[in-house]
Amino acid sequence: MPERASVPEEHRWRLEDIFADQDAWERAFRELEEVITRLQAFQGKLGASGAVLLDFMQQSEQAGQKADALYAYAHMRLDEDTAHPGHQAMQARALNLMVRLDSALSYATPEILAIPPDRLEAFLRETRGLDLYRHALDEIQRKRPHTLSEPEEHLLAMAGEVGHAPGQIFQMINEADIRFPTVKDEDGRELEITHARYGRLLESRDRRVRRETFQGLYASYRKLLNTLAATLTGQIRRNIFFARARKFGSALEAALFPDNVPVDLYTNLLEAVHEGLPTLHRYIGLRKRALRLDEHHMYDVYATIVPEVRVRIPYPEAVELAAEALAPLGEEYVRVLRHGLHSRWVDVYENRGKRSGAYSSGVYGVHPYVLLNYQDTLDNLFTLVHEMGHAMHTYFSDRTQPYVYSQYTIFVAEVASTVNEALLAHHLLQRWNDRARKLYVLNHQLDNFRTTLFRQAMFAEFERKIHAEAEGGQPPTAERLSEVYGDLNATYYGPDMVSDDEIRIEWSRIPHFYMNFYVYKYATGFSAAQALTRRILEEGRPAVDDYLAFLSGGSSDYPLVLLRRAGVDMASPEPVRQAIRSFGELVEQMERLLQV
Ligand SMILES: [Zn+2]
Repeated sequence: MPERASVPEEHRWRLEDIFADQDAWERAFRELEEVITRLQAFQGKLGASGAVLLDFMQQSEQAGQKADALYAYAHMRLDEDTAHPGHQAMQARALNLMVRLDSALSYATPEILAIPPDRLEAFLRETRGLDLYRHALDEIQRKRPHTLSEPEEHLLAMAGEVGHAPGQIFQMINEADIRFPTVKDEDGRELEITHARYGRLLESRDRRVRRETFQGLYASYRKLLNTLAATLTGQIRRNIFFARARKFGSALEAALFPDNVPVDLYTNLLEAVHEGLPTLHRYIGLRKRALRLDEHHMYDVYATIVPEVRVRIPYPEAVELAAEALAPLGEEYVRVLRHGLHSRWVDVYENRGKRSGAYSSGVYGVHPYVLLNYQDTLDNLFTLVHEMGHAMHTYFSDRTQPYVYSQYTIFVAEVASTVNEALLAHHLLQRWNDRARKLYVLNHQLDNFRTTLFRQAMFAEFERKIHAEAEGGQPPTAERLSEVYGDLNATYYGPDMVSDDEIRIEWSRIPHFYMNFYVYKYATGFSAAQALTRRILEEGRPAVDDYLAFLSGGSSDYPLVLLRRAGVDMASPEPVRQAIRSFGELVEQMERLLQV
């Protein structure tokens, strides 16, 4: 593994664009401490006048921007070498300062809510400059019907800590205490199953390894099944408690509220996915034939059905391929993309101590950054366009929006990255004639559909059902959870899948079930991206203009409004149907190439 210093400078990101040196960082740190003191002085005065409110909004915006830059710089320095003690300390200090900023501002929301709506409206009308913050203030206003009296809010805040217990207990069991058995790998070596190894073992071309890994893992969860049912039921009760306390009609409604998403969207998503299940069944049938199996079991679902390909894509070639593949997004997009890739936005290669994986992180007023661990594989090429999707979204939003609206929400966060992956797949499938390479790309995309659209929709349906049962007075038991899960799994995967007994208890090991109706966002964002990709490829310019407007929107409006401007109405089932049509086309291509 090379030392960082030996990686050519052009392939290391240039964090000096944020702070020229350590001293500049320290200066900014002290400045932010002063701003925090000033912000505290606003307490009790926000309702005094429009001018005071404007001053407060502007100063807190400045503080947020500074805090982001301080933290981003510190964590990216640390990610260059995670063992660096100086940078560990810097990151801890930046984090601590952000917490101080947050708690210094904690009075703001209740105080703004205490301003009567017509008075606030008068402030907005009469104070020049305040209108910029209208959406941010609307966001706060929207909470009014779900905000309680001060003593009640105080009680809820205290209960909040208790409410973390189910998730924390699950995490402790799942990450610290649970023990998995060993399994013999392809070469006959005994290996202890771990979370990290599980995925790779299930991808094994040796079916015995897959089966024994699957059975071994679930045997461990089964021993703890009643405990894990109690933690999950505790989590459901927690969600229902807070939803009722805040006067929401259901836990689902409460969970969708922050994104201003109607329950109909959730219902439509699941209905449209159900319509598309025959296509998933067809894919499972194809897998069964391709793998030459009498029975396709759940432990076969990660086994690849395509021959191994050895394509080496050195980074400069990846940059060219990315630029070609993203050409449908227009000249400006490609120009900025190339500029970023050649101006050290990206930290390309591995070095000793560098953080693993990949991510994109933006700094307002500077430019986005991307961390990669590029190793010349086709998978890495997909990662490059994925992360550049995030980076370009950040770039356009930062360029267009004031800081307060520059950061896009989780709901839309994976749209730009998924569009880029879909465009890359489309490009490679057209450009490459080699059968093995085509199969690899198809397989990559089909896996994305299965894991991001269908699997997450199934999770979302499970969450809806168990919450609804609990709300109807029947908190689920281990047996009931397994029954609901097993039925859903059988419905989703269809007649060619053997629904093994083990899969009925998969609910017991899914950390996302402790994140309160979170996963539907994956399925929705993915569908939106597939529908947008189709529109961009079919309609060209007008679709691209709308898409760039979406990328430039940051969080200046609610996610559904932003997506509607890009040309997809997620409140209707149509985008999901289109996504499933794309999936069907990929399945057909795969069937033709595999000839099974
Ligand atoms: Zn991503």
